[in-house]
Amino acid sequence: MVSPNVTITFLGGLGEVGRNSTCVEIDGKLLLIDFGVMFPDVTMPGVDVILPDTDWLQNRSQDLVGVIVTHGHEDHLGGVPHLLREFEVPLYGSELTMGLAQQKVIEARLEERTSFHVLSDGERLQIGPFDLEVLPITHSVPESLCVVLYTPQGVIVHTGDFKLDWDPIDGRMTDIERLKALRQEHGVRLLMADSTNADKPGWSPSESTIGDTLRELVPRWRDRRLIVSCFASHLHRVQQICDVAISEGRTIFPLGRSMVNNIRIAQELGILNLPHRSIDSIDRLGDYDPEAVCVICTGSQGETNAALSLLARDNHPDLSLSDDDVVLLSSHPIPGNELPVYRIINRLTRLGCEVVHDGHEHVHTTGHAQRDELRHLYEAILPEWYLPVEGEHRMLRRNADLAIEAGHPPKRTVVASDGDQVTIDDDGLRVSGHIAAPYRYVDGLLDDLSPELLEDRRKLGEGGFVHVTVVLGAAGELIGHPDISTLGWLDVERSVQVLAELEIEVTEAVNSALDAGEDIDTIERIIRRTTGRFVGNRTRRRPPISASVILTD
Ligand SMILES: [Zn+2]
Repeated sequence: MVSPNVTITFLGGLGEVGRNSTCVEIDGKLLLIDFGVMFPDVTMPGVDVILPDTDWLQNRSQDLVGVIVTHGHEDHLGGVPHLLREFEVPLYGSELTMGLAQQKVIEARLEERTSFHVLSDGERLQIGPFDLEVLPITHSVPESLCVVLYTPQGVIVHTGDFKLDWDPIDGRMTDIERLKALRQEHGVRLLMADSTNADKPGWSPSESTIGDTLRELVPRWRDRRLIVSCFASHLHRVQQICDVAISEGRTIFPLGRSMVNNIRIAQELGILNLPHRSIDSIDRLGDYDPEAVCVICTGSQGETNAALSLLARDNHPDLSLSDDDVVLLSSHPIPGNELPVYRIINRLTRLGCEVVHDGHEHVHTTGHAQRDELRHLYEAILPEWYLPVEGEHRMLRRNADLAIEAGHPPKRTVVASDGDQVTIDDDGLRVSGHIAAPYRYVDGLLDDLSPELLEDRRKLGEGGFVHVTVVLGAAGELIGHPDISTLGWLDVERSVQVLAELEIEVTEAVNSALDAGEDIDTIERIIRRTTGRFVGNRTRRRPPISASVILTD
């Protein structure tokens, strides 16, 4: 007898770090694993975040039965409010992940469009035709889940983001024994594993090793104020920082919206353990001596409007830093964020602060499995098929090669890309189709910026723009001088001569066009061409140019 097929569509995360989203199809129904955002780089001016595209899902909206969110990071959860604007769909995840999701959904006023289903470690449940089990897995946010799907084509495992931390802060271990048992009981048909650190050799240090460093460092700064920055979702880091600071007699001042929110949510859920009297609000900072203060803030990735950036620019209403302060960056720049992070460190050192970061102290460890961990996981599961997820192409490739090095048959190792659809049937796994999976750019309330608009912004950013206005009289004669306005092309006050020359060229071009009896559209085109040639010759720049001809009576 032939078993029904399973098809998996990769909406994002296979070709970039971010906007992770995988869609599994069984029996005509769809289950999403994650719907995350990606953060823009310098080639995307004005863009807030990038989402997976939903055009393909639009045609299947009736079939979507749920979204399982593996953990609370933005690149897995952050796109959910955008998704809910288009689809009404229930959310599933651990208690913390659902707490963080609920905060986002409430802020976006979309509570009516979803429901929150809390999953506990090891729980097995049915969502439509999907029979699944969620297992605890360690990562850099608490309560991350690994997803196990029991499908007509066998067991499929999706790790989500993970590392193998044998000494986690909360004692919640990756259930490697259960994964081994799956192999023994059923055999695993397909393993999809996190590729982020597939380039890095060895085994990532345990999160608990950061506590060791903090216990050594913090007492050295006994008479100074302490400011620590880390990811607001990294609650085990937050816990360790707070534990050491409190043991040194300091009070904790959360700073930055997501830090304040996440600490509150995690305290409510019992994930973060802070004595009530050891935490205070930033507006009461002035009541404390420097040695009694530990500010814990957002902005460790150099985000422009986050707390640390405001502090570095000495532009924060509640706090001003000086040589009495120690600033600890308990983080590592995500690739692409190095420049803004170093700019912040430079500004802080200029203010006189002592800045400590992971370039010279062990104050950060990754949340992603390195090569030895990936191999350990692979060998525990020994899947029939191996398909790396979550990473740029080079990372996916390295992850695939690692499995091959461990003895996995190359022909059963698949490096897929965004938009690829793979089908598993009785014969095996094959890439069966491809959908368009373009970046979807969000800018404020505009949530579908076209690539063309982005290209215009890039051009404007490089060369500014020029606009020429010409006024024609009732008899079709040129009145006065052409008016040339520009933003960002050149400095008008210092370039009077250049603008005067351009005026003359445009005047001549318009007059000969009028003599030739050209219509308004043609004259506007001639103005643009004349101006473009002049700007190109004089400044070697190609800013966008527009022209308008105004008729008077
Ligand atoms: Zn993550």
